[in-house]
Amino acid sequence: MTLPAPQAPDWLDAGRIRSALARNAAEDNKRVAEVLTKARELKGLDLDDVAVLAALTRPDLIEEMYATAKQIKEAIYGRRMVFFAPLYISNRCSNECLYCAFRASNKALVRHTLSQKEIARETEILISQGHKRVLMVAGESYAAAGGFGYVLDSIATIYSVQKGAGAIRRVNANLAPLTIEEFRALHGAGIGTYQLFQETYDREVYAATHPKGRKADFDWRVTAFDRAMTAGIDDVGMGILFGLADWRFEILALISHIAHLEERFGVGCHTISVPRMEPASGSDMATCPPQPVSDEDFKKLVAILRLAVPYTGLIMSTRENAEMRRETYALGVSQISAGSRTNPGGYADEQRFESGQFQLGDHRSLEEVVQDIAQMGYIPSFCTACYRVGRTGGDFMDLAKTGEIKEKCGPNAVGTFLEYLLDYSGPATLAAGEKAIAAEIAAMDTKDGRVAQRLADMVRAGKRDVFC
Ligand code: SAM
Ligand code: SF4
Repeated sequence: MTLPAPQAPDWLDAGRIRSALARNAAEDNKRVAEVLTKARELKGLDLDDVAVLAALTRPDLIEEMYATAKQIKEAIYGRRMVFFAPLYISNRCSNECLYCAFRASNKALVRHTLSQKEIARETEILISQGHKRVLMVAGESYAAAGGFGYVLDSIATIYSVQKGAGAIRRVNANLAPLTIEEFRALHGAGIGTYQLFQETYDREVYAATHPKGRKADFDWRVTAFDRAMTAGIDDVGMGILFGLADWRFEILALISHIAHLEERFGVGCHTISVPRMEPASGSDMATCPPQPVSDEDFKKLVAILRLAVPYTGLIMSTRENAEMRRETYALGVSQISAGSRTNPGGYADEQRFESGQFQLGDHRSLEEVVQDIAQMGYIPSFCTACYRVGRTGGDFMDLAKTGEIKEKCGPNAVGTFLEYLLDYSGPATLAAGEKAIAAEIAAMDTKDGRVAQRLADMVRAGKRDVFC
């Protein structure tokens, strides 16, 4: 099939972004105070505002920005932290991304495309750990598995697995860009969020780091969400691979991308991921990223994104180590993965590490991370309610913007966390969790506390999958 030539997007104006960065490069206390005040109104920030924050170097101003990010995070998300697990179905790939172990020319990697039986096995393991949300991931080559239908079959397989009272209730997908027809089929298969990382918005860097395969076409990738939304997918997840180009340029470009989707479709993106480049088998670039992002800048960019797009979920993966993950929770992260494997079949076979996509920084199990989070005062959430009652896209954003979503997220986090504790955790986690739940209900306002208590009572009485 011949694919239509994608249109170069007019919303990505590198000259405009570079001028905004240059105009705001000098630190200006008054402007910083204005931007932080604007951020507290929870209406988001424009390119110049983001450029002001990206230029910050003074420790006191950075601390003030972090404190503002924390306030915003608590105002919108409360203390809940949503969990998910990636499920890699194939590491075969026809592209040549220089930083990725899955690239076609990496002969050292053991290739594997999971059969439906193997996908069911991986799903069973994730369910038995307590997961309810899966992010299905694949390299860009489905030919060996019979074409794109393989992806649709895999989603159906994941949804079909039942283990005791447990099942995966939401499948999100991180897949290479598709045609509108394929996106329609993906939507029909019942995915939650369609996730795609642009990697970099710098065309020259993109061309140099993606030399071959379908992915070499920048415009095809950068227009993917337009096709996904045209096809009816209204929750999309963006991301940038930090380490390729100047992070300041990237976040301004990302904000432009979100503004474009808002203007064209009435809703921006549902989540943003912030992967930093990690070492990967056979990749010199992954060991020495062209423009590495320091820990300090990484924390800054997380906080800036929280301020700039307050209602968008922020995802922190296990690429980062436990310490960095802990630090970013307060700065605005709302979703995390745990116990992840990036090699197809990695949950069933711990030895298959040689086929992973990159090195992980956090090797703790789901239960260890849950316990850690609960002890930090957060409420681990396994909630999938919005997706299942159709609160997606604009409907979700409308509730988020009026603050009403917190009335759903808080009680649902309590109900699903208790379900996790009673069905999957050991005694120490159960004790830490019960303490966190009691404190959470006590801190809620009367109405939300009553709803949370009702859901918790239903779970204790043996009901499962309850939500509001
Ligand atoms: N193959 C599809 C694609 O490239 O869009 C699907 C997702 S790919 C398996 C998932 C993501 O992993 C990529 O978009 C990239 O940002 C990230 N990734 C690749 N190599 C990485 C590395 N060395 N360190 C961290 N993230 C990496
Ligand atoms: Fe393939 Fe995606 Fe890895 Fe690129 S990032 S080599 S497209 S799996």
